[in-house]
Amino acid sequence: MRSSEVYGRARNYRMIFGQVWDKLSEPLLKTTSEAEVVQAFEAHAPQYHREFVPSLARLIFEVVHHPKFPKRREPQINYLADSLAALGRVTPKRSREIVAQALAKERAKLKHRVLRREFYIECTCGYEGPAYKGKCPRRHPDKAKNELLDFIYQPRIF
Ligand SMILES: [Zn+2]
Repeated sequence: MRSSEVYGRARNYRMIFGQVWDKLSEPLLKTTSEAEVVQAFEAHAPQYHREFVPSLARLIFEVVHHPKFPKRREPQINYLADSLAALGRVTPKRSREIVAQALAKERAKLKHRVLRREFYIECTCGYEGPAYKGKCPRRHPDKAKNELLDFIYQPRIF
């Protein structure tokens, strides 16, 4: 299973749990068996339960009753979503690690995204160098330049 697939599923599960958590969390955290996990999903996440139960009921039961299961809403949602994202093919902990690594990569990408792309210009004023927002950084009226461009790009019939 590719890490991008695990990460994609974690994002999807986070969104789903975000929608149903207010109703689902209490009954889910009180479950005493896998069967009760199935019931909780059927009753409180009816539009999504087939995605999670019965296939992941055992895993869900283990994850929500783990001593390290978070106490607050958002961390609970993320912890459960990330733990399930590998569908039990690796341990919940390994699944969360895969998601965390993908998230870190994603954040690094955002940090280094290009905000403005500039090009190199030779202006009629004599300036040569990188443009500023697509224009000459000397910020003079660019009438002369426009006239020159008109001259250059005017279709000519010979
Ligand atoms: Zn200029």
